[in-house]
Amino acid sequence: MLLLSQDIKYLKGVGEARAKLLGAELDIHTVGDLLGYFPYKHIDRSRFYRICEVNGEMPYVQLLGQILSIEALGAGRKRRLVAHFSDGSGVCDLVWFQGWKYIQKTLEPRKTIVVFGKPQVFNGRWNITHPEIEAPTQNIDGQFVANLPQAVQQQLFASGDDAELAAAGVERQQVAQAQGAVGSPLRPAYNTTERMKHGGMTSGTIQKLMATLLGMLTQPLPETLPPYVLERHHLISRDAALRNIHFPASAEMLEKARLRLKFEELFFVQLNILRYAQARAKKYNGHIFSKVGEAFNTFYRDHLPFELTNAQKRVIKEMRRDMGSGRQMNRLLQGDVGCGKTLVALMLALIAIDNGFQVCLMAPTEILAEQHLETLRGFLKSMPVRVELLTGTVKGKRRQEVLSGLLSGAVNILVGTHAVIEDNVQFARLGLAIIDEQHRFGVAQRAKMWQKNEVPPHVLVMTATPIPRTLAMTLYGDLDVSVIDELPPGRKPIMTIHQFDAHRAELNAKIRQQIALGRQVYMVYPLIKESEKIDLKNLEDGYEQVRMDFPECQVSKVHGQMKPADKDAEMQRFANGETQILVATTVIEVGVNVPNASVMVIENAERFGLSQLHQLRGRVGRGADQSFCILVTKYNLSEDSRKRIQVMVDSTDGFEIAEQDLKLRGPGDLEGTQQSGMAFDLRIANLAKDGILLQMARDMAQEVLDQDPDQQNPANQPMWQRLRELRKTNINWGAIS
Ligand code: ADP
Ligand code: MG
Repeated sequence: MLLLSQDIKYLKGVGEARAKLLGAELDIHTVGDLLGYFPYKHIDRSRFYRICEVNGEMPYVQLLGQILSIEALGAGRKRRLVAHFSDGSGVCDLVWFQGWKYIQKTLEPRKTIVVFGKPQVFNGRWNITHPEIEAPTQNIDGQFVANLPQAVQQQLFASGDDAELAAAGVERQQVAQAQGAVGSPLRPAYNTTERMKHGGMTSGTIQKLMATLLGMLTQPLPETLPPYVLERHHLISRDAALRNIHFPASAEMLEKARLRLKFEELFFVQLNILRYAQARAKKYNGHIFSKVGEAFNTFYRDHLPFELTNAQKRVIKEMRRDMGSGRQMNRLLQGDVGCGKTLVALMLALIAIDNGFQVCLMAPTEILAEQHLETLRGFLKSMPVRVELLTGTVKGKRRQEVLSGLLSGAVNILVGTHAVIEDNVQFARLGLAIIDEQHRFGVAQRAKMWQKNEVPPHVLVMTATPIPRTLAMTLYGDLDVSVIDELPPGRKPIMTIHQFDAHRAELNAKIRQQIALGRQVYMVYPLIKESEKIDLKNLEDGYEQVRMDFPECQVSKVHGQMKPADKDAEMQRFANGETQILVATTVIEVGVNVPNASVMVIENAERFGLSQLHQLRGRVGRGADQSFCILVTKYNLSEDSRKRIQVMVDSTDGFEIAEQDLKLRGPGDLEGTQQSGMAFDLRIANLAKDGILLQMARDMAQEVLDQDPDQQNPANQPMWQRLRELRKTNINWGAIS
């Protein structure tokens, strides 16, 4: 019997060399790995085209006809074997640059064959390079029909004799099953790499190996989901799904197989993350913040400069409930740029302080940490609350003061970067940890924040960019979610304009007009890597240009390679209104808050991602004036860039933009998902498309956990077993706890 754990090299048709390629290129080491390598599409070979119907748009075409003649043409590297092929409606040349001997031996003029491949025009004639060639199958009426993959024919039909089959370890019934499975015209197409193609391994090779493998799997593949789950969601068995995903019996079975495998994939991701949340809840109690006291009330009554929005009030209430429950709060706060998350964080911090606890606010960058420090100190300036900063640049005596203040409890709020989770940072009584994150802290890092404590602090994660629901459920699936879906009143929606950089004069006129009204302007240049000289040069050139174009204006310049003190000084000049234009790299993305700045010019906007553009745009529109965001691009844009710019022009809604971003880029590419410590190497499910299925899988996983918290139900045992296996094999999954 074939075992899935068996080394792939022992599978018939593989051997040492191919096993090496499969391992290095596709991470396929065992037979089971190969089985889990799903085709990226299926090719419908249910019909033949006539040569006169062929057009250049077709990705592939299947023809039925005869070879008229064969000849060798060209010389040197262009030397090729050409077979002139016709079906009576036209002629198509079949071309080989390699493998002549075999072709010459097998191709016979005047014999009917099936040809399959990508049609191209060369010298005014259709040709197909390195086509697949097969003998046609005739049906009962003698008509030619689209036929089975050759490998399968050889594997299964050649050995008609029962004794022979038994010797090969194949049972009659399996043959019938496999025949059923491969009898459809839907052929799997597998991704391969350049190096595999050089080594002679194509999609066709994998197809053959897969047919061999499935033919040898004489036992049904074990089920991993409990029967009641299958029934509830009308899912086919794992055995049927794995066979049909490769060689579908029909289009309908392919659909069912995909559904089953996607569900399973999403289900286990959710089961993993929800089980983690469950275990955490069981293991830890939470500090009880029973009262709202002096600090909160004084601030609310005397120092709050504006009315809270209803959304802000609602989320504060939600979190107060969490923090009074006796269980640890683990909550995600989502809200668009400028919706006022910082203020919410501050009010929660005051509740913690009222209950005798300290608070830690962690930001992804130094600039943002400094900005938070300033904001908090500004809000709290006439209150006896001590706020300190801890980043990599806080050193020596200053650092010692902060650290001892934390230990004695004299410091109420610590603001910082990653530096705050270092082991030597000890709090007297840490009660609330707030992470303002931009997807940069993974689950593991979050866990590190409270592993030191007997009773962990409450944890609030704030995302600076809204993220799509499906992504949130996966990235932050262990957290409860609060959403601020309302901006403070009086803000006018920012007007976004797309401008080609060739129309500089028009752009400058717009800017001049705003400056004349007393407004200020950001001009942002892309930064690919902070160290790249070329980026800095763009910025320097831009700066010189701006000074020439606007001789009447004061201009500031800020970039990541400046000393922090110089950077601050320049920022300060802009914030004070001493300069009218700030030329900067993306360092300002996370940082500044200058309500009088009403124009955001983004140069080379095509080089920015959507979420970054949205963040940058959020720097304006903070005052009461009409604000503008001008996206400057070159004239020739890729389809993708054009779409991204259009999304920005059409929408100011961060959630919508996040959804579009996910659609355009796919979850694998989204900012930060790689470091997120969660499984994003989904094989078949797609977070951009399978939102409903994801919700179903999550609800199901939650139900299973609720009903079988101690893993006692025998029906669930194969499922828990599978989860353990997945956690062992998938490094990312392990990182979650
Ligand atoms: P973000 O959610 O992007 O972190 P901030 O907390 O930086 O947003 O808030 C953006 C701006 O809105 C700040 O200047 C802040 O003081 C202001 N703000 C916050 N809440 C309100 C409110 N309820 N009414 C008016 N302005 C507010
Ligand atoms: Mg913020």
